[in-house]
Amino acid sequence: MPKQIISASEMERYGYCPLSWHLDLKGIDAEGDEVNTGVEKHKEMGDSLKNLLVEEEKSRITSTTLMTVVGLIMTLVTLAIAILWISDDNDLLKRNLGVILLILGIGWMLVASLFLYRLLLSTEKIDKLRDDYKLGESDIETPDALTKETPVLKSDNYNLAGRPDYLIKKEDMRIPVEVKTGRKPKAPFFSHVLQIGAYCLLSEEKFETKPSHGQIRYGFDNEPHKVVWDSKLKNLVIEKLDEMNDILNGDMEAHRNHKRAGKCNNCSRRKGCPERLRN
Ligand code: SF4
Repeated sequence: MPKQIISASEMERYGYCPLSWHLDLKGIDAEGDEVNTGVEKHKEMGDSLKNLLVEEEKSRITSTTLMTVVGLIMTLVTLAIAILWISDDNDLLKRNLGVILLILGIGWMLVASLFLYRLLLSTEKIDKLRDDYKLGESDIETPDALTKETPVLKSDNYNLAGRPDYLIKKEDMRIPVEVKTGRKPKAPFFSHVLQIGAYCLLSEEKFETKPSHGQIRYGFDNEPHKVVWDSKLKNLVIEKLDEMNDILNGDMEAHRNHKRAGKCNNCSRRKGCPERLRN
């Protein structure tokens, strides 16, 4: 099998069961309603985040345009007042010019009120989207952001790549966030912790300041789980990456790493799995 870059979502699969990851590499697709529902929900969420970023960009442009128009109005009105002030009653040319500038200023005021209306509508929409997704005031970036600030994160050192659902921007630090569509567990699943750990490793490599933690969100209705990015998690992620790279290089084989029939029953690759456990 040729050596290939490992993705953070592959690490999630490996964390669930190494064999599931390996079956996927061999072309055995995940099956089941929950897989399709998960893909749809995830796409919905991605679209919503994209809408938010598009709306925020529109709002920024409208705000800049509004400020320019306000500047123009102030200039026109100031000029009009100055001309009217210095012109005497007989100087019709200056008085007419002053009145024309004043009328132009009033005309631009109507344009400004239109931009202000658009800005208010946009702000209302942004506030609602941020409330819906419990994003607060945090500055976010997504891999599909218009600015392309966060393309796929890559690490040649670890043969790893990945795109978190979004990143929270805190000066030079980027906190990766992964959104899961299933029910919220009491504590995050091991496979999800491994995936967010992979994103933290990528963020640490790519940005100037290493992330203090990553976040796992089970739907947008729930508060995020904070996963501390410490040396323990980093070592675990590197250990699993080493195993995966060994398997890709043919130095190790992938096998089931548990004895839980229930886990196999819930596995989306159970049909094509030679090591499946049955009740
Ligand atoms: S069916 Fe069981 S052994 Fe097979 S890939 Fe799934 S979890 Fe692993």
